[in-house]
Amino acid sequence: MDSIKITTNLETLNQEFDGYYPQERLDKVFEVFDSERVLMTSSFGSTSVILLHMISKVRPDHPIYFIDTGYVFPETKRYRDQLIDRLNLNVVDVGAKPNHHRFTAENLTWKYTSDLCCFINKVGPTDKLKEGKEVWISGLLRYQNANREKLNIFEQRSDIIKFHPIIDMTEEEVQTYCLIYELPLNPLVYQGYGSIGCTHCTAKGEGREGRWLNSSKTECGLHT
Ligand code: SF4
Repeated sequence: MDSIKITTNLETLNQEFDGYYPQERLDKVFEVFDSERVLMTSSFGSTSVILLHMISKVRPDHPIYFIDTGYVFPETKRYRDQLIDRLNLNVVDVGAKPNHHRFTAENLTWKYTSDLCCFINKVGPTDKLKEGKEVWISGLLRYQNANREKLNIFEQRSDIIKFHPIIDMTEEEVQTYCLIYELPLNPLVYQGYGSIGCTHCTAKGEGREGRWLNSSKTECGLHT
């Protein structure tokens, strides 16, 4: 496929990137944007390994930020370490200031004001990472929930462009990709967790149904 022309017009980018496979999109985004201005985060959740594997192929040194909310499953942390070894990833842990996190622990904010808890432990630390960045790579998939099914490859989100290189992979393609490359899944998947976030707010269930169970909340605020 021909090299793309350099543009940051979103409509043009969406048209041009639509013709590429997910890993090609990831590769090409670094032709459009300066790598210093490209942010990548990962939750090391149920489908994170796809994008992590792709970045290890196209930009093995690129920093991948892991938002440690302080309420992460120990299994997820061990999985993160396993993938760092397996894929040689450059993972950097970030989180809220200790006194801010302590406030959420002491006041059970995850239980009474979960939006505030997510803001302090996830959104705030991520907002700091976004400073000086132009584009933010995420591993969202359209099939995951109604909020995500209309997302484009590139979306403007306030002052940053969200880039979803694997957005149109189907559930079957995700499973096949993991099988072909023999990629390990987060071990909680095998215990019945379809989607994996914090210990307080994640239950077993299909897809994202176990996230903020018995609540109208469906997203932590990072992607909305
Ligand atoms: S998912 Fe739950 S525990 Fe994690 S930051 Fe949000 S409210 Fe707090």
